[in-house]
Amino acid sequence: MGLVVQKYGGSSVADAEGIKRVAKRIVDTKKDGHQVVVVVSAMGDTTDELIDLAEQVSPIPAGREFDMLLTAGERISMALLAMAIKNLGHEAQSFTGSQAGVITDSVHNKARIIDVTPGRIRTALDEGNIAIVAGFQGVSQDKKDITTLGRGGSDTTAVALAAALDAEVCEIYTDVDGVFTADPRVVKKAKKIDWISFEDMLELAASGSKVLLHRCVEYARRYNIPIHVRSSFSGLQGTWVSNEPQGAQKVEQAIISGVAHDTSEAKITVVGVPDKPGEAAAIFRAVADAEINIDMIVQNVSAASTGLTDISFTLPKAEGRKALDELEKAKSAIGFDSLRYDDQIGKISLVGAGMKTNPGVTADFFKALSDAGVNIELISTSEIRISVVTRADDVNEAVRAVHTAFGLDSDSDEAVVYGGTGR
Ligand code: ADP
Ligand code: ASP
Ligand code: MG
Repeated sequence: MGLVVQKYGGSSVADAEGIKRVAKRIVDTKKDGHQVVVVVSAMGDTTDELIDLAEQVSPIPAGREFDMLLTAGERISMALLAMAIKNLGHEAQSFTGSQAGVITDSVHNKARIIDVTPGRIRTALDEGNIAIVAGFQGVSQDKKDITTLGRGGSDTTAVALAAALDAEVCEIYTDVDGVFTADPRVVKKAKKIDWISFEDMLELAASGSKVLLHRCVEYARRYNIPIHVRSSFSGLQGTWVSNEPQGAQKVEQAIISGVAHDTSEAKITVVGVPDKPGEAAAIFRAVADAEINIDMIVQNVSAASTGLTDISFTLPKAEGRKALDELEKAKSAIGFDSLRYDDQIGKISLVGAGMKTNPGVTADFFKALSDAGVNIELISTSEIRISVVTRADDVNEAVRAVHTAFGLDSDSDEAVVYGGTGR
Protein backbone atom coordinates (compact mmCIF):
# COMPACT_ATOMS: atom_id res chain seq x y z
CA MET A 1 0.00 0.00 0.00
CA GLY A 2 1.11 3.52 -0.70
CA LEU A 3 2.06 6.65 1.06
CA VAL A 4 -0.71 8.90 2.37
CA VAL A 5 -0.38 12.51 3.48
CA GLN A 6 -3.04 13.58 6.00
CA LYS A 7 -3.55 17.15 7.16
CA TYR A 8 -5.47 17.96 10.32
CA GLY A 9 -6.74 21.52 10.76
CA GLY A 10 -6.82 23.45 14.01
CA SER A 11 -10.40 22.54 14.92
CA SER A 12 -9.54 18.82 14.64
CA VAL A 13 -6.79 19.17 17.26
CA ALA A 14 -8.40 21.87 19.40
CA ASP A 15 -7.78 20.15 22.75
CA ALA A 16 -6.16 17.05 24.29
CA GLU A 17 -9.22 14.93 23.46
CA GLY A 18 -9.04 16.06 19.81
CA ILE A 19 -5.36 15.20 19.63
CA LYS A 20 -6.02 11.70 21.01
CA ARG A 21 -8.92 11.18 18.58
CA VAL A 22 -6.76 12.24 15.61
CA ALA A 23 -3.85 10.06 16.84
CA LYS A 24 -6.14 7.04 16.76
CA ARG A 25 -7.23 7.82 13.24
CA ILE A 26 -3.61 8.13 12.10
CA VAL A 27 -2.67 4.84 13.75
CA ASP A 28 -5.61 3.12 12.01
CA THR A 29 -4.29 4.33 8.65
CA LYS A 30 -0.85 2.96 9.49
CA LYS A 31 -2.40 -0.35 10.56
CA ASP A 32 -4.10 -0.54 7.13
CA GLY A 33 -0.57 -0.83 5.73
CA HIS A 34 0.08 2.75 4.60
CA GLN A 35 3.11 4.89 5.22
CA VAL A 36 1.69 8.00 6.87
CA VAL A 37 2.90 11.60 6.83
CA VAL A 38 0.78 13.96 8.88
CA VAL A 39 0.69 17.74 8.55
CA VAL A 40 -0.81 19.45 11.56
CA SER A 41 -2.09 22.99 12.23
CA ALA A 42 -1.94 24.88 15.50
CA MET A 43 -4.52 23.87 18.10
CA GLY A 44 -7.92 25.59 17.81
CA ASP A 45 -7.60 29.36 17.53
CA THR A 46 -3.96 29.44 18.73
CA THR A 47 -2.72 31.36 15.68
CA ASP A 48 -5.37 34.07 16.19
CA GLU A 49 -4.46 34.27 19.87
CA LEU A 50 -0.77 34.68 19.02
CA ILE A 51 -1.67 37.45 16.56
CA ASP A 52 -3.78 39.21 19.25
CA LEU A 53 -0.84 38.95 21.62
CA ALA A 54 1.58 40.40 19.06
CA GLU A 55 -0.80 43.30 18.41
CA GLN A 56 -0.73 44.14 22.10
CA VAL A 57 3.01 44.73 21.95
CA SER A 58 3.24 46.28 18.48
CA PRO A 59 0.51 47.98 16.40
CA ILE A 60 1.21 46.22 13.08
CA PRO A 61 3.35 43.19 13.80
CA ALA A 62 5.05 41.80 10.70
CA GLY A 63 8.21 40.30 9.37
CA ARG A 64 10.75 37.91 10.82
CA GLU A 65 9.78 37.95 14.50
CA PHE A 66 6.07 37.66 13.71
CA ASP A 67 6.79 34.48 11.74
CA MET A 68 8.96 33.15 14.54
CA LEU A 69 6.05 33.69 16.94
CA LEU A 70 3.32 32.18 14.75
CA THR A 71 5.24 29.00 13.97
CA ALA A 72 5.25 28.22 17.70
CA GLY A 73 1.57 27.20 17.43
CA GLU A 74 2.28 24.29 15.07
CA ARG A 75 5.27 23.19 17.16
CA ILE A 76 2.97 22.61 20.12
CA SER A 77 0.47 20.49 18.21
CA MET A 78 3.08 18.43 16.32
CA ALA A 79 4.88 17.40 19.51
CA LEU A 80 1.65 16.57 21.37
CA LEU A 81 0.38 14.54 18.42
CA ALA A 82 3.62 12.53 18.25
CA MET A 83 3.34 11.84 21.99
CA ALA A 84 -0.29 10.72 21.65
CA ILE A 85 0.68 8.33 18.83
CA LYS A 86 3.53 6.87 20.88
CA ASN A 87 1.08 6.37 23.71
CA LEU A 88 -0.92 4.12 21.33
CA GLY A 89 2.17 1.97 20.85
CA HIS A 90 3.36 3.33 17.49
CA GLU A 91 6.52 5.20 16.58
CA ALA A 92 6.19 8.83 15.54
CA GLN A 93 8.61 11.70 15.03
CA SER A 94 7.71 15.36 14.67
CA PHE A 95 9.51 17.83 12.39
CA THR A 96 9.36 21.59 11.95
CA GLY A 97 8.81 22.86 8.41
CA SER A 98 12.52 23.57 8.14
CA GLN A 99 13.48 20.05 9.28
CA ALA A 100 10.97 18.60 6.81
CA GLY A 101 12.73 20.44 3.96
CA VAL A 102 10.07 23.04 3.17
CA ILE A 103 12.14 25.74 1.44
CA THR A 104 10.48 29.08 0.72
CA ASP A 105 11.23 32.52 -0.66
CA SER A 106 11.91 35.20 1.95
CA VAL A 107 8.60 37.11 1.89
CA HIS A 108 7.70 36.95 5.58
CA ASN A 109 4.08 36.21 6.56
CA LYS A 110 3.15 34.93 3.09
CA ALA A 111 6.14 33.05 1.79
CA ARG A 112 5.88 30.79 -1.26
CA ILE A 113 7.26 27.27 -1.27
CA ILE A 114 10.02 27.02 -3.87
CA ASP A 115 11.32 23.53 -3.12
CA VAL A 116 10.65 20.58 -0.83
CA THR A 117 13.54 18.27 0.12
CA PRO A 118 11.98 15.78 2.51
CA GLY A 119 15.08 13.62 3.15
CA ARG A 120 14.49 13.38 6.89
CA ILE A 121 10.83 12.48 6.37
CA ARG A 122 11.83 9.64 4.02
CA THR A 123 14.33 8.33 6.55
CA ALA A 124 11.75 8.50 9.36
CA LEU A 125 9.26 6.56 7.20
CA ASP A 126 11.86 3.98 6.15
CA GLU A 127 12.56 3.38 9.84
CA GLY A 128 8.88 2.61 10.37
CA ASN A 129 7.83 5.91 11.91
CA ILE A 130 4.79 8.03 11.35
CA ALA A 131 6.14 11.46 10.39
CA ILE A 132 4.40 14.53 11.82
CA VAL A 133 5.18 17.84 10.13
CA ALA A 134 4.33 21.32 11.39
CA GLY A 135 2.14 22.98 8.76
CA PHE A 136 2.19 26.59 7.53
CA GLN A 137 5.96 27.10 7.88
CA GLY A 138 9.25 26.79 6.09
CA VAL A 139 12.74 28.21 5.93
CA SER A 140 13.89 30.85 3.47
CA GLN A 141 16.40 29.70 0.88
CA ASP A 142 18.71 32.70 1.07
CA LYS A 143 18.69 33.91 4.69
CA LYS A 144 17.69 30.62 6.37
CA ASP A 145 15.04 32.50 8.34
CA ILE A 146 11.83 30.88 9.52
CA THR A 147 8.86 31.88 7.33
CA THR A 148 5.10 31.32 7.32
CA LEU A 149 2.97 30.63 4.26
CA GLY A 150 -0.01 32.89 5.05
CA ARG A 151 -3.21 32.06 6.93
CA GLY A 152 -4.49 28.57 6.22
CA GLY A 153 -1.07 27.63 4.85
CA SER A 154 -1.01 24.12 6.33
CA ASP A 155 -3.16 23.01 3.38
CA THR A 156 -0.30 24.04 1.08
CA THR A 157 2.31 22.27 3.22
CA ALA A 158 0.29 19.06 2.92
CA VAL A 159 -0.05 19.17 -0.86
CA ALA A 160 3.58 20.21 -1.34
CA LEU A 161 4.76 17.26 0.75
CA ALA A 162 2.36 14.92 -1.06
CA ALA A 163 3.89 16.04 -4.37
CA ALA A 164 7.50 15.75 -3.15
CA LEU A 165 6.90 12.29 -1.64
CA ASP A 166 4.80 11.09 -4.59
CA ALA A 167 1.87 10.28 -2.27
CA GLU A 168 -1.18 8.53 -3.69
CA VAL A 169 -3.55 11.01 -2.06
CA CYS A 170 -3.54 14.11 0.12
CA GLU A 171 -6.32 13.94 2.71
CA ILE A 172 -7.41 17.24 4.25
CA TYR A 173 -9.26 16.60 7.51
CA THR A 174 -11.41 19.44 8.79
CA ASP A 175 -14.57 20.22 10.78
CA VAL A 176 -17.13 19.70 7.99
CA ASP A 177 -17.80 16.64 5.80
CA GLY A 178 -16.20 18.05 2.65
CA VAL A 179 -16.61 20.91 0.22
CA PHE A 180 -20.22 22.10 0.15
CA THR A 181 -22.17 24.22 -2.32
CA ALA A 182 -21.77 27.09 0.21
CA ASP A 183 -20.25 27.55 3.65
CA PRO A 184 -22.34 25.26 5.92
CA ARG A 185 -21.98 27.84 8.70
CA VAL A 186 -24.03 30.26 6.61
CA VAL A 187 -26.25 27.98 4.51
CA LYS A 188 -27.76 25.13 6.54
CA LYS A 189 -29.13 23.62 3.34
CA ALA A 190 -25.75 23.50 1.60
CA LYS A 191 -25.04 20.20 -0.21
CA LYS A 192 -21.85 18.18 0.00
CA ILE A 193 -20.10 17.93 -3.37
CA ASP A 194 -18.79 14.40 -4.15
CA TRP A 195 -16.30 15.50 -6.78
CA ILE A 196 -15.14 18.91 -8.00
CA SER A 197 -12.57 19.81 -10.66
CA PHE A 198 -9.36 21.63 -9.75
CA GLU A 199 -10.58 24.48 -11.95
CA ASP A 200 -13.83 25.09 -10.03
CA MET A 201 -12.18 24.48 -6.64
CA LEU A 202 -9.51 27.07 -7.49
CA GLU A 203 -12.19 29.69 -8.14
CA LEU A 204 -14.14 28.79 -4.98
CA ALA A 205 -10.97 28.96 -2.88
CA ALA A 206 -9.88 32.24 -4.48
CA SER A 207 -13.34 33.63 -3.75
CA GLY A 208 -13.16 32.91 -0.03
CA SER A 209 -14.19 29.27 0.56
CA LYS A 210 -11.53 28.74 3.18
CA VAL A 211 -12.10 24.98 3.42
CA LEU A 212 -9.12 24.78 1.03
CA LEU A 213 -6.52 27.42 0.46
CA HIS A 214 -6.15 28.76 -3.06
CA ARG A 215 -2.39 28.14 -3.22
CA CYS A 216 -2.86 24.56 -2.10
CA VAL A 217 -5.28 23.88 -4.96
CA GLU A 218 -2.91 25.57 -7.41
CA TYR A 219 -0.12 23.30 -6.23
CA ALA A 220 -2.29 20.18 -6.41
CA ARG A 221 -3.32 21.00 -9.95
CA ARG A 222 0.26 21.64 -11.04
CA TYR A 223 1.48 18.29 -9.69
CA ASN A 224 -1.82 16.46 -10.26
CA ILE A 225 -2.26 15.40 -6.63
CA PRO A 226 -5.83 14.27 -5.86
CA ILE A 227 -7.17 15.88 -2.66
CA HIS A 228 -9.78 14.24 -0.45
CA VAL A 229 -11.43 16.82 1.84
CA ARG A 230 -13.24 15.13 4.74
CA SER A 231 -14.18 15.40 8.37
CA SER A 232 -11.90 14.16 11.15
CA PHE A 233 -15.06 13.82 13.28
CA SER A 234 -16.96 11.35 11.05
CA GLY A 235 -16.13 8.32 8.92
CA LEU A 236 -17.97 9.66 5.87
CA GLN A 237 -16.50 9.96 2.38
CA GLY A 238 -15.80 13.61 1.69
CA THR A 239 -15.15 15.57 -1.49
CA TRP A 240 -12.60 14.54 -4.12
CA VAL A 241 -10.80 17.37 -5.86
CA SER A 242 -9.00 16.18 -8.97
CA ASN A 243 -8.71 16.52 -12.73
CA GLU A 244 -11.20 13.79 -13.56
CA PRO A 245 -13.65 11.90 -11.34
CA GLN A 246 -12.58 8.31 -10.56
CA GLY A 247 -14.75 5.22 -9.90
CA ALA A 248 -17.36 6.02 -7.27
CA GLN A 249 -16.88 9.74 -7.80
CA LYS A 250 -18.26 9.46 -11.37
CA VAL A 251 -20.73 12.30 -11.44
CA GLU A 252 -21.71 14.89 -13.97
CA GLN A 253 -19.94 18.19 -13.65
CA ALA A 254 -22.50 20.60 -12.17
CA ILE A 255 -23.39 23.78 -14.05
CA ILE A 256 -22.94 25.74 -10.84
CA SER A 257 -20.49 24.33 -8.28
CA GLY A 258 -21.24 26.70 -5.46
CA VAL A 259 -21.52 30.11 -3.86
CA ALA A 260 -18.51 31.53 -2.02
CA HIS A 261 -18.30 34.57 0.21
CA ASP A 262 -15.51 36.61 1.70
CA THR A 263 -15.61 39.35 4.32
CA SER A 264 -11.85 39.59 4.75
CA GLU A 265 -11.33 42.31 2.14
CA ALA A 266 -11.50 46.11 2.19
CA LYS A 267 -11.91 48.68 -0.56
CA ILE A 268 -9.63 51.62 -1.27
CA THR A 269 -10.82 54.42 -3.55
CA VAL A 270 -8.24 56.75 -5.04
CA VAL A 271 -10.17 59.95 -5.60
CA GLY A 272 -9.38 62.58 -8.24
CA VAL A 273 -6.92 60.75 -10.48
CA PRO A 274 -5.92 62.64 -13.67
CA ASP A 275 -7.39 60.69 -16.61
CA LYS A 276 -4.20 60.18 -18.61
CA PRO A 277 -1.95 57.26 -19.58
CA GLY A 278 0.31 55.95 -16.83
CA GLU A 279 -1.84 56.87 -13.80
CA ALA A 280 -3.24 53.39 -13.12
CA ALA A 281 0.23 51.95 -13.69
CA ALA A 282 1.72 54.29 -11.07
CA ILE A 283 -0.99 53.53 -8.49
CA PHE A 284 -0.73 49.76 -8.83
CA ARG A 285 3.08 49.85 -9.01
CA ALA A 286 3.15 51.55 -5.59
CA VAL A 287 0.89 48.83 -4.16
CA ALA A 288 2.68 45.95 -5.88
CA ASP A 289 6.11 47.13 -4.70
CA ALA A 290 4.83 46.67 -1.14
CA GLU A 291 4.00 43.00 -2.01
CA ILE A 292 0.26 43.64 -1.64
CA ASN A 293 -2.10 41.51 -3.72
CA ILE A 294 -5.14 43.29 -5.03
CA ASP A 295 -8.36 41.66 -6.16
CA MET A 296 -11.06 43.62 -8.00
CA ILE A 297 -10.50 46.97 -9.74
CA VAL A 298 -12.96 49.52 -11.14
CA GLN A 299 -12.25 52.83 -12.77
CA ASN A 300 -15.05 55.32 -13.31
CA VAL A 301 -15.32 57.43 -16.47
CA SER A 302 -13.83 60.83 -15.81
CA ALA A 303 -16.05 63.84 -15.34
CA ALA A 304 -15.79 65.91 -18.53
CA SER A 305 -15.47 69.18 -16.58
CA THR A 306 -12.49 68.14 -14.44
CA GLY A 307 -10.77 65.36 -16.43
CA LEU A 308 -10.46 63.54 -13.11
CA THR A 309 -11.58 60.01 -12.32
CA ASP A 310 -11.78 57.65 -9.31
CA ILE A 311 -10.17 54.23 -9.15
CA SER A 312 -11.36 51.67 -6.57
CA PHE A 313 -9.81 48.32 -5.74
CA THR A 314 -10.19 45.62 -3.12
CA LEU A 315 -7.43 43.99 -1.10
CA PRO A 316 -7.05 41.93 2.10
CA LYS A 317 -8.05 44.01 5.16
CA ALA A 318 -4.83 42.91 6.81
CA GLU A 319 -2.89 44.88 4.17
CA GLY A 320 -5.13 47.96 4.13
CA ARG A 321 -2.97 50.13 6.39
CA LYS A 322 0.19 49.33 4.45
CA ALA A 323 -1.45 50.09 1.09
CA LEU A 324 -2.76 53.45 2.33
CA ASP A 325 0.70 54.37 3.62
CA GLU A 326 2.37 53.45 0.32
CA LEU A 327 -0.16 55.42 -1.74
CA GLU A 328 0.09 58.42 0.59
CA LYS A 329 3.88 58.41 0.05
CA ALA A 330 3.39 58.41 -3.74
CA LYS A 331 0.57 60.99 -3.67
CA SER A 332 2.40 63.97 -5.16
CA ALA A 333 4.14 61.87 -7.80
CA ILE A 334 0.85 60.29 -8.91
CA GLY A 335 -1.20 63.46 -8.43
CA PHE A 336 -4.52 62.26 -6.96
CA ASP A 337 -6.69 64.20 -4.48
CA SER A 338 -7.40 61.82 -1.61
CA LEU A 339 -7.89 58.23 -0.45
CA ARG A 340 -11.04 56.59 0.94
CA TYR A 341 -10.98 53.35 2.93
CA ASP A 342 -13.98 51.08 3.47
CA ASP A 343 -13.63 47.83 5.44
CA GLN A 344 -17.36 47.11 5.70
CA ILE A 345 -17.58 45.30 2.37
CA GLY A 346 -18.22 41.67 1.50
CA LYS A 347 -17.85 39.67 -1.69
CA ILE A 348 -20.22 37.01 -3.02
CA SER A 349 -19.18 34.78 -5.92
CA LEU A 350 -20.98 32.22 -8.00
CA VAL A 351 -18.67 29.56 -9.46
CA GLY A 352 -19.25 26.91 -12.10
CA ALA A 353 -17.82 25.64 -15.37
CA GLY A 354 -21.34 25.64 -16.83
CA MET A 355 -21.30 29.44 -16.94
CA LYS A 356 -19.22 29.28 -20.11
CA THR A 357 -22.23 27.94 -22.00
CA ASN A 358 -25.20 29.33 -20.02
CA PRO A 359 -25.59 33.01 -20.83
CA GLY A 360 -28.52 33.51 -18.42
CA VAL A 361 -26.46 32.89 -15.28
CA THR A 362 -25.33 36.49 -14.77
CA ALA A 363 -28.85 37.88 -15.12
CA ASP A 364 -30.26 35.26 -12.71
CA PHE A 365 -27.52 36.08 -10.20
CA PHE A 366 -28.28 39.80 -10.24
CA LYS A 367 -32.02 39.11 -10.05
CA ALA A 368 -31.55 36.95 -6.94
CA LEU A 369 -29.54 39.74 -5.31
CA SER A 370 -32.09 42.39 -6.19
CA ASP A 371 -34.98 40.22 -4.93
CA ALA A 372 -33.08 40.00 -1.63
CA GLY A 373 -32.72 43.80 -1.60
CA VAL A 374 -28.94 43.66 -1.88
CA ASN A 375 -27.16 46.54 -3.58
CA ILE A 376 -24.18 45.74 -5.84
CA GLU A 377 -21.11 48.01 -5.56
CA LEU A 378 -18.51 46.29 -7.76
CA ILE A 379 -18.64 43.44 -10.27
CA SER A 380 -15.94 41.22 -11.71
CA THR A 381 -16.12 38.09 -13.82
CA SER A 382 -13.97 35.30 -15.15
CA GLU A 383 -14.99 32.55 -17.56
CA ILE A 384 -16.37 30.43 -14.72
CA ARG A 385 -17.04 32.93 -11.93
CA ILE A 386 -19.02 36.06 -11.25
CA SER A 387 -18.32 38.12 -8.14
CA VAL A 388 -19.98 41.18 -6.63
CA VAL A 389 -19.05 43.42 -3.74
CA THR A 390 -21.85 44.43 -1.36
CA ARG A 391 -22.16 45.78 2.18
CA ALA A 392 -20.68 43.28 4.66
CA ASP A 393 -24.00 43.17 6.55
CA ASP A 394 -25.80 41.88 3.46
CA VAL A 395 -23.44 38.99 2.73
CA ASN A 396 -25.06 36.09 4.60
CA GLU A 397 -28.53 36.93 3.38
CA ALA A 398 -27.24 37.32 -0.19
CA VAL A 399 -25.43 33.96 -0.12
CA ARG A 400 -28.59 32.18 1.03
CA ALA A 401 -30.73 33.95 -1.59
CA VAL A 402 -28.36 33.06 -4.44
CA HIS A 403 -28.00 29.46 -3.20
CA THR A 404 -31.79 29.03 -3.27
CA ALA A 405 -32.24 30.83 -6.59
CA PHE A 406 -29.83 28.45 -8.34
CA GLY A 407 -31.59 25.37 -6.95
CA LEU A 408 -28.63 24.37 -4.79
CA ASP A 409 -30.57 23.88 -1.53
CA SER A 410 -30.64 20.27 -0.33
CA ASP A 411 -33.96 18.80 0.67
CA SER A 412 -32.48 16.27 3.08
CA ASP A 413 -30.27 16.66 6.13
CA GLU A 414 -28.84 19.94 7.26
CA ALA A 415 -25.09 20.33 6.73
CA VAL A 416 -23.17 19.40 9.89
CA VAL A 417 -20.47 21.61 11.40
CA TYR A 418 -18.58 19.47 13.92
CA GLY A 419 -16.30 22.01 15.54
CA GLY A 420 -14.33 25.18 15.14
CA THR A 421 -15.42 28.70 15.94
CA GLY A 422 -15.50 29.91 12.33
CA ARG A 423 -12.90 32.53 13.27
P1 ADP B 1 -9.24 23.90 9.34
O1 ADP B 1 -9.02 24.42 10.71
O2 ADP B 1 -9.56 22.43 9.32
O3 ADP B 1 -8.19 24.29 8.34
P2 ADP B 1 -10.91 25.97 8.21
O4 ADP B 1 -11.67 26.75 9.22
O5 ADP B 1 -9.72 26.58 7.59
O6 ADP B 1 -10.59 24.56 8.87
O7 ADP B 1 -11.87 25.50 7.02
C1 ADP B 1 -13.06 24.80 7.29
C2 ADP B 1 -14.22 25.78 7.28
O8 ADP B 1 -14.38 26.30 5.97
C3 ADP B 1 -15.58 25.18 7.58
O9 ADP B 1 -15.80 25.07 8.97
C4 ADP B 1 -16.53 26.12 6.89
O10 ADP B 1 -17.10 27.07 7.80
C5 ADP B 1 -15.65 26.90 5.91
N1 ADP B 1 -16.15 26.86 4.53
C6 ADP B 1 -16.28 27.94 3.73
N2 ADP B 1 -16.78 27.60 2.55
C7 ADP B 1 -16.98 26.26 2.58
C8 ADP B 1 -17.48 25.32 1.62
N3 ADP B 1 -17.88 25.70 0.39
N4 ADP B 1 -17.54 24.02 1.98
C9 ADP B 1 -17.13 23.63 3.21
N5 ADP B 1 -16.65 24.48 4.15
C10 ADP B 1 -16.57 25.79 3.84
N1 ASP C 1 -2.39 27.83 11.98
C1 ASP C 1 -2.36 28.58 10.75
C2 ASP C 1 -3.60 29.44 10.63
O1 ASP C 1 -4.44 29.43 11.52
C3 ASP C 1 -2.20 27.73 9.54
C4 ASP C 1 -3.31 26.76 9.27
O2 ASP C 1 -4.11 26.48 10.16
O3 ASP C 1 -3.38 26.27 8.15
O4 ASP C 1 -3.74 30.14 9.67
MG1 MG D 1 -7.88 25.87 6.88
